[in-house]
Amino acid sequence: RTHIDNATPDNVIQAITGKQFEPRLPDYECLDQYLLDGGYQVFKSLQQGDVSAQSLEQQVLDSGLRGMGGAGFPSGRKWSAVRSEPGPRYMAVNADEGEPGTFKDRYYLESRPHLVLEGMLLAALAVEAEKIYIYVRDEYPVALKILQIELQSLHEQGLIPCDWVELRRGAGAYICGEESAMIESIEGKRGLPRHRPPYVAQQGLFGQPTLVHNVETLYWTARICREGASVLADVEHNGRKGLRTYSVSGRVNNPGIYMLPSGSTITDIIAAAGGMLSGHTFTAYQPGGPASGILPASQNNVPLDFDTLQPLGSLIGSAAVVILSDKDSVKAAAINMLEFFHHESCGQCTPCRVGCGKAVSLMKMEHWDKALLEELGSVMTDASICGLGQAAPNPFRTVIRYFPDEVSKDAD
Ligand code: SF4
Repeated sequence: RTHIDNATPDNVIQAITGKQFEPRLPDYECLDQYLLDGGYQVFKSLQQGDVSAQSLEQQVLDSGLRGMGGAGFPSGRKWSAVRSEPGPRYMAVNADEGEPGTFKDRYYLESRPHLVLEGMLLAALAVEAEKIYIYVRDEYPVALKILQIELQSLHEQGLIPCDWVELRRGAGAYICGEESAMIESIEGKRGLPRHRPPYVAQQGLFGQPTLVHNVETLYWTARICREGASVLADVEHNGRKGLRTYSVSGRVNNPGIYMLPSGSTITDIIAAAGGMLSGHTFTAYQPGGPASGILPASQNNVPLDFDTLQPLGSLIGSAAVVILSDKDSVKAAAINMLEFFHHESCGQCTPCRVGCGKAVSLMKMEHWDKALLEELGSVMTDASICGLGQAAPNPFRTVIRYFPDEVSKDAD
């Protein structure tokens, strides 16, 4: 066994093969292509004062864009909140996409990186950020390489100063995708979520006001500023406005990334993904990452959007949809989700650190003690510091609620 210092994927490959790891780059839209397509015109207009930050902010507000990382906060309102705080201000881009089943940010970074980068630069200028940090998960070496190349190209074209944007590599901790833990990590500390308030818009990086945006949010920011608010506002389906990117996996013919109306139901999504695999009958689904729990196939007419899933005890999160079939056990899937949370808990607070492990042991019993699990879930939701511990009970709560036969042979 060899000890590998800083065991990142490229270092491990180098240690095993003796060769420097060089990711193979896909065919993506480079800076020249993006400029030919009118790229960075809005950014230049904002720099030169031909358009105002307020008018762009209004477009973003009119579009109805909300944070696509999971929290769903109205994006335009973040800009005014950060700008109203005294400087210096910073910006952080959350590219630490670690939610199981989510791969949409990777798709955008590896196909249309300049839409993300122009969105980032527009937002940074709008809040007069002194510096931008892009925090990329280290499991995305291709995205990281593309960003290195394209940021250098932007600098060489004179579009950005060389030290305005800094790339930071994550180190594999899921919790560092939580915005305050990411900020701690960028500051060089262990990625522990902070208590709020104060919010990061008030005291974020180095104690200064910080604008934090997810990759997909920035992709939409650039498109809205280039094409107008109507790019989202004019799309309506099932009474919901806008578009979103669903990462679809599981028992479908064509797992992948699907940009669909925000009012899409699971039926729409399965149809977009080519239908169910042969020999599989749709029984259940994860609508938005493990924190969203598991819903039954009978809930097939609910728009998978912000706010629509709360009455069902679920949430859309980062729109990571996993389709389950009659060949899957929802109980096993829920245990897998809790084991993930147990592994990724940062350990800072007891309800989450101990609660996730306790839930796993209770769920592994043949007959679930539903009352004890519900009580444990209440403590975790009420007393955990961050969203991980607060939402971790959702998998067992949804299984108890929607799949009683799987767990009902208990003593009560
Ligand atoms: Fe850490 Fe979990 Fe507490 Fe969040 S809820 S701060 S992940 S221990």
